[in-house]
Amino acid sequence: MPDRIPISAALTAGLHWLYETEQPDDAWMQHHGQQIRITGNRYLTFTPTGADNLPVIAINVSRPKWTKDPRGYLVPGNPIAPDELPRLAAELEHRGFTVRSTWNGFPADTGSVGLARPAHPSQVAAVERYRAGCQAHPARSVFCECDAWHAGFVRAVRPVALATA
Ligand SMILES: [Zn+2]
Repeated sequence: MPDRIPISAALTAGLHWLYETEQPDDAWMQHHGQQIRITGNRYLTFTPTGADNLPVIAINVSRPKWTKDPRGYLVPGNPIAPDELPRLAAELEHRGFTVRSTWNGFPADTGSVGLARPAHPSQVAAVERYRAGCQAHPARSVFCECDAWHAGFVRAVRPVALATA
């Protein structure tokens, strides 16, 4: 996957992955979803099973510069801009995806958009297989390190983001 593509191309790839991409029934993937790096020191995350088991798309600062506010608390010195989360939500609505809710945003280093339409059932099933843990070694659950458990992650299909430049 190329580094740092425009946000529009990343959204196209990530939405295609969430909604149109079928995961093999012998694949699994962890619940934090997939990341696509975009321009401007940002990355997007696409999570099939976020809040209420529905998809969540987040925009995040790739390299936060932490600083102390006047009370001495660590805060991001380069947070996302005030309009970034609203713009992401508006773009998703423009593409036909109903937004349920948004979280965080300025002055945080991350902002999330929850979508109403459930992800492709095979995406949800792949996360559920992860949560069930290694079937060969139930005692080790998701922390197993055997080849069979590792192979399931390798079989998972990742978003394909093509650089347009
Ligand atoms: Zn195992």
